[in-house]
Order: sequence, then C-alpha cells, then structure tokens
Amino acid sequence: MAQPVHFIGVDLGGTTVTAAAVNVISGQVVGRHQIPTLAKEGHDAVMARMAGLIHTVISDAGLSQADVGGIGIGAPGMLDLERGLTLFLPNLPGAWRNVPLKATIEAKVGLPVYLLNDVRSFTLGEKTFGAGRDVDTMACLAIGTGIGGGLVINGQLHLGIGGTAGEVGHQIIDPYGPPCGCGSRGCLEAFASGPAITAMALKAITQGLTTSIGEIVSYDLNKVTPEVVYQAAQAGDPIARDIYERAGFYIGIGVANLITILSPQMVVIGGGVAKAGDLLFDPIRRAARERVHVTPIEKVQIVPAQLGTDAGLIGVAVWASLRLRSGQALRFGD
Ligand SMILES: [Zn+2]
Repeated sequence: MAQPVHFIGVDLGGTTVTAAAVNVISGQVVGRHQIPTLAKEGHDAVMARMAGLIHTVISDAGLSQADVGGIGIGAPGMLDLERGLTLFLPNLPGAWRNVPLKATIEAKVGLPVYLLNDVRSFTLGEKTFGAGRDVDTMACLAIGTGIGGGLVINGQLHLGIGGTAGEVGHQIIDPYGPPCGCGSRGCLEAFASGPAITAMALKAITQGLTTSIGEIVSYDLNKVTPEVVYQAAQAGDPIARDIYERAGFYIGIGVANLITILSPQMVVIGGGVAKAGDLLFDPIRRAARERVHVTPIEKVQIVPAQLGTDAGLIGVAVWASLRLRSGQALRFGD
C-alpha cells in the first residue's frame, strides 16, 4: 500500500505549540492550530496537551487517523533522534532531560513519531518547498532569539553526530568576543541575534547618542526590540541603520565561512530578525563578497526564507515521511 500523503507537523516552541496536517507531496498545510506551551506545568502536561492538539488537527483537517502516515515534532534543542528523547531544551522551563517524547506521543495518539531539531526542520522545509527547492546544496540560518541553522548536502539534510550539524550561530567570529550561552566566547549569536541587536540599541541610548529609538518606546527601555530598531532605521535614524549594518556585517562573516567550507548554491536566511530585509541582507552580501576568495561567490545566492513561520512544521512533517519510508534508519534519500 502507498504511504499516506498527510503527515502531522508539530513545532514545539518556548511559548506556543503549533501543529498542522501537511501534504508532503504538495506542501499544502491544513488544519493549523496553536496552543500555549505553558512549559512551567512540566513535560507531562505539555505532552498531554500536544496529543490533544494533534487529535484536533487531524479532525479539523477532515482526516481520519488512517489517512495520516505519522507525526514529526520539531523541538528547540538537543535530542536523541534514535531513541526519541529530548536531551536539553534551553528555552523551555522544566526538566526535559531524557524525556521520552517520541514514545509518549506514540502511545497517546497511536501513530509513529519522529523528532528533529526545530531549525533543522526549518531547513528541510525550505529545501523541500521553499527557497531551496531547486538547489541540492545549501546552508540555512534562522536569526531570532538565537541563531540556529541547518545544512543540506547533495539533496540530503546533513545531520552530523546525533543531528548536531548546522549550529552556525556558534561558529566563533572573535575568539576574544563576549561570552555566549553555549559556554564559548565570541560566537556569531553573541554579535548578531535579536538580543544582540537590542543590546546595541540600549547601549547607544544610555551613551546618550542622538537616536530616535528611545523616543519610539517613550523611553521605556524594556520595550526596545529588533523591530523597534528596524522602525527607526526605516525612518532614516543613522544609529539604528548602523546597528543593522553591524549585525549584517557579522552575519556576513559567518556566511563567508559557511560558503568557504560548504560551497553551497544557496544560503537561506530566515527568522524574525531577517524581516529587516535589505537593511540586513545588503551588509551580509557585501561582507560575504569581500571575504570569500577561493569559492565562486557570484554563483552563491544569499536569499530570504520563503515559507514564513510554517517552515518548521512543514519540514518536520517531511522528515517524518522520509523516516517512515526509510524504516528507522537516520540516513535517508536513497
Ligand atoms: Zn555559542
């Protein structure tokens, strides 16, 4: 019997859990629902709500359980892909060490479940139905609270050891740079993530530089976000423009490293901070052009992601279909 075309993609985030039924042949998303994660209540409560959410999605998509091939869950952190455990989810309060997420949801829903890191899920979504659908080697960056990423090599998501490949935000840009949450120093994430952009803005305001950023938030500095800095930059504020210029410069250095190592046809950049568009992409492309010398940089496209916030749940649904097709093996595509 042919494999069903519908798989459920679940995006487990720090504040919300989103799920939908994904047609893994067309990329169409139906029955999308979102609930608060409420991670403070503990992993058992979160997993019980996830199972309820999956049942709601299946019925709202007009499907029965037999129409669904399986479930993919994208989770923000380190996972044991073979055993289906969460190992470390830094953005979710509560103990998530060695939690049997796969087995628990399988028992509650009665369908096969496969886990994948959330940004690797985003990468596979963009590869299959988004910006990267016509290329076979690409690097992805998702720039938000942190900087995550993923790699596709010769048409396959590159997992590395335990799915840890593609942590592009933790490449070291300056060995003497600021400490990073991962335990190292001077990682790209410490220079160009959303919080790094906010920190640059706060520093400019407290130094008394002439900028409209403070005015926009009525000097309530808790309200300064990358989006506020973007607004100021769009209105021509030179300090705000300079902040995006600097963030883009650092990301461009990181992208230059990726291009030099991987020689990809495409670098795809998504996440909330990437919504700044040319303000960020211009300095990224400029820095990459200046720093890449041994790879034909003119053949590398540096482009925005295309699938928006659904990229992760689309990608992880595709992941579930690939895993199911290849049995339990973690290498797929052959
Ligand atoms: Zn780091």
